[in-house]
Amino acid sequence: MTARRAARARGISMEPEHEPLISPREALRELSKRLREGWGLEYVKRSAPHAPSTASASASSAPRRSEPAVAPRAPAPLPPAPDAPLPEREKALQGIAREIQSCRACRLCEKRKQAVPGEGPADARVAFVGEGPGYDEDRSGRPFVGAAGQLLTAIIERGMGLERSSVWIGNTVKCRPPGNRNPEPDEIQACEPFLRRQLDIVRPAVIVTLGRFATQLLTGRSEGILGLRGKVYQVPASWEVAGTPVVPTVHPSFLLRSPEYKPQCWEDIKLAMKTIGLESRRDGPPRGEGSPT
Ligand code: SF4
Repeated sequence: MTARRAARARGISMEPEHEPLISPREALRELSKRLREGWGLEYVKRSAPHAPSTASASASSAPRRSEPAVAPRAPAPLPPAPDAPLPEREKALQGIAREIQSCRACRLCEKRKQAVPGEGPADARVAFVGEGPGYDEDRSGRPFVGAAGQLLTAIIERGMGLERSSVWIGNTVKCRPPGNRNPEPDEIQACEPFLRRQLDIVRPAVIVTLGRFATQLLTGRSEGILGLRGKVYQVPASWEVAGTPVVPTVHPSFLLRSPEYKPQCWEDIKLAMKTIGLESRRDGPPRGEGSPT
């Protein structure tokens, strides 16, 4: 007779001291279930952080093709004071551009032709922040120069009545994601310090975010762009330009594919102008080059 049967014969309950062992996968599934049902939280598995390459790494331990060729970034120099003379701020922006051009802090450096730091004056009142460089931008080193860029230029010049050269234009990631895929969260995170420093120097009166990735980064929200557009947000408190108004709108490349959203985009642009006291020159959205309408 086993100890359990003997105990039961004497009327003694013998509960196991421990829950039966379960596999790590089942444990993870159970943890996810309890988090979801008990706390309304979703368990998200985090990928392992990228190990920085070191000078002592041997050739045989070089990153495989699928791994990011990461390199530690040198400490950033102190930014100029907000009231520093314009040439000093321009020089600081140029210094960041040089850092970006040689940056290897995420896997997007591997396939780029060249990085695209962004462009515009260091005292621009309006900043546009998009997603990342595309084919034309990767070749030219300038932001928004392809068909979507022509549409953005039309919005700025014919719609807002501003010179494109008077606004600052940049992206969330500075190197082209291969095949124009979406940037990965770790790539956005790796590139974020550059955008922070650029905006800290420019200190625009309003930031127009183009598409989901820039909008989520600069508002701290997680909804899609169509749910976020149409309102004014503020840059989160953790940023150097915290509190700056952010007006989200759809990305120009989305407008090229879905021109029926042009009226909403135009409403957003007018909202951005109103936020800083600018008058719009038009009643309707501009018909830009590169626009199918
Ligand atoms: S995307 Fe940004 S972080 Fe990644 S390599 Fe290019 S500049 Fe560096």
